[in-house]
Amino acid sequence: MPELDPTTTRFDDLVIGAGMAGLTVAALLAADGRKVLVVEAHDTPGGYAHTFAVGDYRFCAQVHYIFGCGEGETVHEVLRRLDLADAVKFHRLDPEGFDHVVVAGERYRIPNGLEKFRDRMIRRCPEAATPLRGYFDAVMAIGRELDRLPPKLGWRELATAPLRFPHLLRYRTWTLQRLYDHLRMPPRMQAVLAGQAGDYLLPPAEVSLLLHVALVRGYDRGAYYPERHFQHLVGSVADRIRDRAGCALLLKTPIDHIDVRGDRVVGVRARDGRTFTAERYVSNVDPKQTAVLLGRKRLPDDWGRKLRYAYSSGNLTLYLGVEGLDLRQHGFGSHNVWHYPHDDLNAIYRRQLVDRDFAEPWLFMSTPTLHTDAPGLCPPGHQILELATSAPHAYFRKLRDTDRRRYNAEKKQLRDRILQIVEERYVPGLRAHLAMRVMGTPATNERFCGAPAGNAYGAALTPANVGLGRVPAETPWANLWLANATAGYPSVAGTVRAGFDLYQKLARG
Ligand SMILES: Cc1cc2nc3c(=O)[nH]c(=O)nc-3n(C[C@H](O)[C@H](O)[C@H](O)COP(=O)(O)OP(=O)(O)OC[C@H]3O[C@@H](n4cnc5c(N)ncnc54)[C@H](O)[C@@H]3O)c2cc1C
Repeated sequence: MPELDPTTTRFDDLVIGAGMAGLTVAALLAADGRKVLVVEAHDTPGGYAHTFAVGDYRFCAQVHYIFGCGEGETVHEVLRRLDLADAVKFHRLDPEGFDHVVVAGERYRIPNGLEKFRDRMIRRCPEAATPLRGYFDAVMAIGRELDRLPPKLGWRELATAPLRFPHLLRYRTWTLQRLYDHLRMPPRMQAVLAGQAGDYLLPPAEVSLLLHVALVRGYDRGAYYPERHFQHLVGSVADRIRDRAGCALLLKTPIDHIDVRGDRVVGVRARDGRTFTAERYVSNVDPKQTAVLLGRKRLPDDWGRKLRYAYSSGNLTLYLGVEGLDLRQHGFGSHNVWHYPHDDLNAIYRRQLVDRDFAEPWLFMSTPTLHTDAPGLCPPGHQILELATSAPHAYFRKLRDTDRRRYNAEKKQLRDRILQIVEERYVPGLRAHLAMRVMGTPATNERFCGAPAGNAYGAALTPANVGLGRVPAETPWANLWLANATAGYPSVAGTVRAGFDLYQKLARG
């Protein structure tokens, strides 16, 4: 096959960014026989779902477990259409407790099945039976309506919304905390029910109740890990583009300008000066950042207003290679562990993000090598433990830019505090067994994943940014669309959905 010169080829579709939404829409269009070019800034595809290597270890940058992989659900459906459903298999995390929430030393297991979870919680805390019933009733009612919601609300849905979606309407401006207060939920139950808050990086006082329900329901249907790790999932989808005649995926190709004439995009320019053209363009890059690439001083009013969202917070991640001990003997396994020092998640988040006090951080702990037996992440007999918590971006970015020594010293101090907590409360002697340790900050996310302000989940998932306030896939330019965690919803399933929805729109023409 003659080598394709992407600078002289006019492609059918050009996708900027190889995150999960970008890869999804590109691979589906390529499977339809369209000539697709994907241009990605990093040296590997996947965005937040990419895997990086350090020595003999491989770490997925951010993603630990996903939903939407059951038959008929989004991720499975996209893989089926790409003829990958047999090649990319998933392991289900323990249905009796895929997430363990540990609050002040007390462990609560979150099972699949909301009724089971409710009954377990009532048995554990019978005096909270009434608020717990109220909470689960609300979650189930909202969830049923979310399932019925079409991707786009037409006039008919809006006109009949009070009858068809009464709970979505009632709760659309609520935070999770408002529901807790309304139900007089005891503090310990508040903490446990919001135990997966790191999956949206907001405390109960700020997160949209509808978004909380969507997340809880997503994992309730099944929490999954790819049998051959995230690198295989991402690589398999990327190969569906690379292996198609007339298509290409260019790495290390940051785009620094989107060229517009009138109401159409006519090309994109890479930082190295190369230009690429296509009939249609998709940006997998954050919408505000896409507006910067468009180089417009004034944006059309409607669109400009949609782009005034605040970003979700950043995060610290500690990637560890463990040698000579079995984490299964310390409370880890086919599940994740969420650690909270006490019941008040609002105070814990505030202390970290506002006061920058990391004396007692919340921690998410995940063990990819215990989710599947497949090799590929570390030497035989070793295990991987990954830890994450929330952290403010601006502080770390400034330190990294102005005082590299202090930045590294701060990273080391935080790493040591986190390891001390894990050693004291979960894995005695852990530090003596560490063969690898790598620490990432919100500034690292910005550098390697192109995430503005180191954001973890795109626009902050507050009530203002969820639902009708969401950035749409359409832009004021007739042949430019958006698909990512903000024009769509975050998570692998959410961004694969955004890519799939956009593909369906584009395929209809
Ligand atoms: C700490 C953390 C933990 C998470 N854990 C989970 C989890 O367990 N499960 C889950 O489902 N989700 C998780 N997520 C969320 C999930 O990873 C993201 O929502 C999702 O991967 C985002 O996909 P995206 O399509 O929006 O693209 P992104 O991942 O944002 O990728 C965008 C791509 O565009 C590229 N790019 C940017 N600018 C340019 C440019 N100018 N030119 C060319 N390329 C460019 C970037 O390099 C990047 O590859 C987590 C996120 C974080 C931060």
